[in-house]
Formats: sequence, structure tokens, C-alpha cells
Amino acid sequence: MKFVRLKSSRPCRVLSGHPWAFAGEIDRQNQKLEDGDCVELRDVRGRSLGSGLWSNRSQIAWRRYAREMRLFDRKFLREALSSAVSRRSPGQYRRLVWSEADHLPGLVVDQFDRAIVVQVLTAGMACAQNEIALWLKDNLSPREIIFRNDAASRQYDGLELEVHTESGDPFVPDWFNIEGVEYFLDLSGGQKTGFYLDQREQHLQVAKYAHGRRALDGFCNQGGFSLQMARAGAASVEGIDSSEECVTAAARNAERNKLAAKFTRANMFDWFTENRTQKFDLIVLDPPPFAKNKEAMAGAMRGYKELNLRALRLLNPGGILATYSCSQRVSTSDFLAMLGDAAADAKREARVLEITGQPSDHPVLLNFPESHYLKGAILQAE
Ligand code: SAH
Repeated sequence: MKFVRLKSSRPCRVLSGHPWAFAGEIDRQNQKLEDGDCVELRDVRGRSLGSGLWSNRSQIAWRRYAREMRLFDRKFLREALSSAVSRRSPGQYRRLVWSEADHLPGLVVDQFDRAIVVQVLTAGMACAQNEIALWLKDNLSPREIIFRNDAASRQYDGLELEVHTESGDPFVPDWFNIEGVEYFLDLSGGQKTGFYLDQREQHLQVAKYAHGRRALDGFCNQGGFSLQMARAGAASVEGIDSSEECVTAAARNAERNKLAAKFTRANMFDWFTENRTQKFDLIVLDPPPFAKNKEAMAGAMRGYKELNLRALRLLNPGGILATYSCSQRVSTSDFLAMLGDAAADAKREARVLEITGQPSDHPVLLNFPESHYLKGAILQAE
């Protein structure tokens, strides 16, 4: 197996357990390395830091897949896929593979009943794409596998953006029953891998507070929170999203499930400006990741605070705010501090009912903060 070395003994994240090493940190030992090569990384004293997949174009040149010396061959891949799937609880809608957190850096696999959606995100993992499809076919007998290789981050690895199905036929959107609600999903288009599976437990959790309450679902996407709140007996449900496609899909889903909910296309910031006097008993805020990079952090925190402040102002006494951030860069403590500021400015006392995170099929790796992207809190305003 080829090996590379860290250039210096200066502290860097890979020395404290993080699974990435950056191109600038690595001395390649004058070797020609190919995308997808299995490479051992050693520290300056020659001690092994594990085996990783190499990518030539990305800043993240080395991503660890094993602490020991292992080739990333067919045997390793099959073992890693089996262990990832066996760690999950049984279910029809779930994430089966979550990248570094499952020792498969650059690979995401979601199951939607008999359809499987795969995202290959790095040049290293792209070399294994055919083997991955074979394993999925042999072990899970899906009706179709959809390769959603259209995430923008692929460009950092010099990979093309493309979507294709294993059968070669176009994917036909269909109804999928997730936690008792039917959604019309196009798994070959739309945001994420077709649906926000990472919020499916929260849809139900928040719905527990919905009975008899006037609910607002900010950033509603295809209606995940709205429809579960309506199903749980909310007095009224209003969902807002800036995407026309999303509000149309959400309305169609409501109709199919015979649930009463109204969906409006609007920018949430503008909506709050134009609706200062309405009152609600339950508000959900589930915005897209505002803090995509370090530079965007300050602006992102202002955006989160603004939204939460406005929401708190619209809550009746005893009202509930279920609020989330899916920015990797925003930690749970940043998020709670921002909520504290928002409550202070809104002059509202708020009690923390629940601090929430990711469902267990989106596991968090302790030394890989990037795997912990979703944070949330359910608050009650006095
Ligand atoms: N709550 C959803 C997921 C929300 S994802 C669920 O559980 O399924 C974030 C959503 O915010 C996307 O649907 C996106 O279209 C929408 N969005 C992005 N920017 C927005 C803005 N400024 N105002 C309103 N919606 C926005």
C-alpha cells in the first residue's frame, strides 16, 4: 500500500481523530497518486494514522476509511456496506449509509421503500460506484437505484454533475407513504435525495404539540411538518416556502391525504415583515443551511436570529417554537446562544422543552463535527 506523510508535527485535525487530511498538510513522497488510491497516512514520526481514499483535485486530499491498514477493495466495501445497513433499525424509509460516519467517505445511500437513492460525492468513492450498485442489487433487491450525482460539492473533486438510474429508464415519480402520510416524490430531482428523511422523526415529534393549535410551518418544503401537524388535529396549518415547486407539491400531498393545510409561496423573511399581527400557537422554522462557509457565519447567525425573533413575537402565550439549523458550522451551543439573543430581543421568556438532533440513521461521529449538521430546539414561550 502506498503511503504519504504529514509535513509537520503542528497540530492538525487528523492528529486528533478527525478523518480528513488536507492537500497542504501532506507530503506525497514524490509519488504519482491516482483518484481512489488507497493510501496510508503517517505522522512525521512515521506512526500510522490509518488508511484513506485519495482525491487529487479536492482540498480534502485524504479521507480515512479505516484506522488499520486495509485496502479499499471489493471485500472491504462489501463489509462496510453490510455493517452500515445492519447498524440501522429495520424500516422502509431510512438512510442506509452516511459517509465518514459509516467508514464510507463520500457515499450517501437513502432507502425509499423499494427505491434506493445513491449520492457519490468524491473522486475516491466514484471509483467504487459499480461495485456499490452490485452490492445493493445483491443484498437489498431494490426495484430501482437512482444515482443522484448532482450535488454541487462534486465539482471540488473534478466530478461531473449527473443523474441516472441503474435500469437506464427514467424514474417515474410516485406516491410514497412516510410515517403514515403519502408524498408524491421525484427521487431523480428536487432537493436532497427527494425528501428530508433527516426530519421525519421531528415531523412526528412536533405533531405531538399540534392538537387544537394554530400552526405555521416556515420553510415547509413538501409539507413534512404541516401534514403531520394537520393529521394530529391542529386547528389550522399554514406552510410557507419560497419554491413554487415545493408549495405545489405540498398542496397536492395535502389533497391526497385529505388533510386541511394552506400553502403559500413566499420568502420567509418578507412573509414575517408583511405579517406582524397574526398570532400562532405553534411555529416551525426549518431553514436551509445559511452558513455554507466560514465567511458566511456572521450573516447566517443574523439570519437565524431574525427569523427566531420574529417567530417568537407571533406566538401566543404558551405557544411552541420548533426551530432547526442544518448548517454544519453552527454548533449546538452557537444555536442555543442565538436563540437566547432572539428571545431577549423579543422580550419573551422561553423554556426549553427539548433539544433535538439527528435521527440514529444519520449517525454523528464524535471526532467528525461535520457529521453533526442538524440541531434543533422545541421551546415554549411564556
Ligand atoms: N421542513 C422541511 C425541510 C425544509 S428544507 C421538511 O421537513 O421536509 C428548507 C426549505 O426552505 C426548502 O424547501 C427551500 O425551498 C426553502 N427556502 C429556502 N430559502 C427560503 C426563504 N428565504 N424563504 C422561504 N423558503 C425558503
